[in-house]
Amino acid sequence: MAQVLKNGSRKFDLSDNWDVHHPDGYHMYTTSGRKVQWYLDRELAEIFEPNKIRLRFEPKGRGFSEHEVFGKLPRINRCVVCGEENGLQRHHIVPYHYRKFMPLKYKSRNHHDVALICRKHHEEYEQIAKFYKNEIAAHFKVETIEEMNARQINFMVDQLKEQFKAMKLLDTLLHRYNTIPIERVEWIGEEFKKTMGIDIMEMNFDEIEELYHKTDKLIKTKKAEMMNVENFFHGKSVIEKLITTQDYETFIRGWRIHFIQSMSPLYMPEGWSVDFTYSRDPK
Ligand SMILES: [Zn+2]
Repeated sequence: MAQVLKNGSRKFDLSDNWDVHHPDGYHMYTTSGRKVQWYLDRELAEIFEPNKIRLRFEPKGRGFSEHEVFGKLPRINRCVVCGEENGLQRHHIVPYHYRKFMPLKYKSRNHHDVALICRKHHEEYEQIAKFYKNEIAAHFKVETIEEMNARQINFMVDQLKEQFKAMKLLDTLLHRYNTIPIERVEWIGEEFKKTMGIDIMEMNFDEIEELYHKTDKLIKTKKAEMMNVENFFHGKSVIEKLITTQDYETFIRGWRIHFIQSMSPLYMPEGWSVDFTYSRDPK
């Protein structure tokens, strides 16, 4: 889901760039006011100059290593494609659909691959990216998102076919009782017994109505459960094919190249690179 960055919103004020310093004074990286607030709230840092904080604890690393200039530079509030400054959204160069199944190091340190983009260009790129996702599916020999969705729907319909049938029978009984012949009512009773093992002929209208709502609720719950079955995520099937660090780097690099080639962005942040690596010591 695209996150709209509201102008003036304290929570996501990206113009608010803060330098984070090591207790020894070393400038580790630059971050948002929101993150800084987090540290301040926990008394983990102190402000020593405007827009500069110093950590009050010894962090594990020293932030970005020297060659990773990127993280140290302040972010500029503009669309990376056209320079528009309003209504910006965060664009994840590697879509969430894949990223969510990646190891933590690619998920947690993805600052490099989040670009600010205007809504128009975000939507434009999302459309183009669909084709790239299909190319990825073909490359890794996994189902496309559309194929998986279709299979998921078939699976759900199959799993819930009895409940769907029950709903249809109850619906007829509740809403067309006065217009259908008695034989039809009896047939419905028989069918319902066969499908659900419940004798609705013994029930009054209120009870039937209650059963109708219960079944409807059950279907909705089961549908929601089935929507989350990870076997139906194209992204998961793709990520399972990535084994080595090199595989991951190549996959991420592919998305960066695709974005650059598709959108020709004029304002990628200084220090941004298709070759940026998340691994300190690539193997
Ligand atoms: Zn734009």
